[in-house]
Amino acid sequence: MTTALAPDALLEELLAAGLFLSTGVDGLYGRSAVLEELLERLDGLVSALAAEDGAERLRFPPALPRRTLERSGYLKGFPHLAGTVHAFAGDERDHRELLAALEEGRDWTRCQRPTELALVPAACYPVYPTLAARGPLPAGGGLVDVASWCFRHEPSREPTRLQVFRMRELVRLGTPEEVRAFRAAWLERGRRMVERLALPCTIETAHDPFFGRGGRVMATSQKDQGLKFELLVPILDGAQPTACLSFNYHQDHFGRTFGLRTATGEAAHSACVGFGLERLAIALLRHHGLAPERWPRSVRAVLWS
Ligand code: 5GP
Ligand code: ZN
Repeated sequence: MTTALAPDALLEELLAAGLFLSTGVDGLYGRSAVLEELLERLDGLVSALAAEDGAERLRFPPALPRRTLERSGYLKGFPHLAGTVHAFAGDERDHRELLAALEEGRDWTRCQRPTELALVPAACYPVYPTLAARGPLPAGGGLVDVASWCFRHEPSREPTRLQVFRMRELVRLGTPEEVRAFRAAWLERGRRMVERLALPCTIETAHDPFFGRGGRVMATSQKDQGLKFELLVPILDGAQPTACLSFNYHQDHFGRTFGLRTATGEAAHSACVGFGLERLAIALLRHHGLAPERWPRSVRAVLWS
């Protein structure tokens, strides 16, 4: 890293360079052509690394059934991050009231009601009910490649903490042994990938940002059991390094929740490796400069070969 930058200052730099496009809301930005290309190249790099594994490629919209979010347990741990989709559900009088409220700068959302949709909080969530609906997994389990825009309600001036961002994930489903072996392999692959990009990194046990006092217990238990690892890259000065990749072992939580079984009838275990594409892009821009065409040749070769 060159000079020290406050979190807010890095955001200002990204905006001034035209890489992030302001919308007026913290954590919600447009992407320039240069940033978009970088995100696509990173996505392509993950594809290349995963190619030999023959993962099934599935893509879902950035919304999922609200019922899936309710069943998943997400609201138990992260009520503060969840987003639901609301829509107008009124009559013509309500419509007139809405327009009057809008005109007068009052709250116009009185007639908004929850729809059946919620916003996807992590790319892997739609995978579990989808696979469960197919019946038991084949012998050897399953491997799914998924990607999504994700929403988390945490407005921030840190450019590494977005409200809407892109996550690429590989999800392994099967026996505990299959799933653990997958995670161990990706811990190594992920580290090698980031080292090839000439980014400094460490891998540490971690926990999710569970809500409230009860959440502290869940966080401690998750960390003590080594269920979550993060690959961290120093990006923001004076702050903890940023998790750019996550390696999560859910045990049989999703298997039990969604009735997903192995070929021999046990609740399937699952693990996912998540790549935060914007975080990786920002790490590269921070360490190698805001102009990708001037990055070291060895780094460019990894992404543009
Ligand atoms: P997790 O589900 O482990 O919290 O997140 C998976 C990956 O998504 C993280 O390793 C990280 O790279 C990315 N991610 C999580 N939260 C954010 C965020 O607020 N902004 C961005 N840009 N990426 C995030
Ligand atoms: Zn996941």
